[in-house]
Amino acid sequence: MNSKASRFLPLLLWLVFEAVAVVLTLTKANLFYLFNFSYIGTALALGLVLFQRRYRHARRVVQLLVGTYMLVYLGLLRGENMQLEGFWYYLFTGVFEAATIHYAVAKIFGPLLFGRGWCGYACWTAMILDLLPYKVPQKPQKRPGFFRYIVFAASFVFVAALFLCRVGHLEKIMFAAFIIGNVLYYALGILLAFRFRDNRAFCKYVCPVTVFLKPMSYFSLFRIECDKTKCVSCGKCRSVCPMEVDMTDNSRRRKNGTECILCLECVKACPKKAL
Ligand code: SF4
Ligand code: SF4
Ligand code: SF4
Repeated sequence: MNSKASRFLPLLLWLVFEAVAVVLTLTKANLFYLFNFSYIGTALALGLVLFQRRYRHARRVVQLLVGTYMLVYLGLLRGENMQLEGFWYYLFTGVFEAATIHYAVAKIFGPLLFGRGWCGYACWTAMILDLLPYKVPQKPQKRPGFFRYIVFAASFVFVAALFLCRVGHLEKIMFAAFIIGNVLYYALGILLAFRFRDNRAFCKYVCPVTVFLKPMSYFSLFRIECDKTKCVSCGKCRSVCPMEVDMTDNSRRRKNGTECILCLECVKACPKKAL
């Protein structure tokens, strides 16, 4: 990411979210969208500004602002299931609302622009997992990548079965699924973090959302790039990366390239400002 692009990144990000907010508010005639996307866009832009001013906990601030809002306000208080099951549910009902919009913006089309920024700054699961002690993996592991597809398929089959069997009280079931799903994700996430000594083990091995995120972020407009004329191959950047990305390789096929969560730890660590 060159310095010119990064200077305008907060404003650009904020404008993208405002554009989404205005379009959805007008097309859906619902002021909630103006509040929702303005809040999230402002929180993200604020985080980037704080980062540019070298505030150490900039990313944490955004994670807490957005993650808590999504989990507590949208999920628990408004009863909207923003998990993968919620996405299938709204998709099957043919309603372009809540989780469908959330997935379209944050996890399917948004990553073409800002990669896996969702994972670095907004996910309420990672918001808790990032508090655990293993910020950088202690030992690289062989990744059982297929597991995410099983969880992804299970989530689809679960919601499809509810519709096929014409089960009643679907709203209540989806709310219960949201609570149970989150408890399971947190429990499994914490267990895997301690087992593999890696806070982000859940993200790497289990999370079904990566089935959308990884291929879309491959094409991301914003990505970490290395200025080879400045790099002295000291390796400090790779030693702080929570996702084991080889950010010194500029190719889109670089090692673990679609794992980058844009946390910017490598940028902070580089003594030569090469990233
Ligand atoms: S990989 Fe999944 S759990 Fe991890 S931050 Fe991304 S969406 Fe959240
Ligand atoms: S340290 Fe750099 S390459 Fe690794 S996830 Fe964070 S931003 Fe991406
Ligand atoms: S920290 Fe900077 S100088 Fe060192 S290897 Fe990484 S990009 Fe190159």
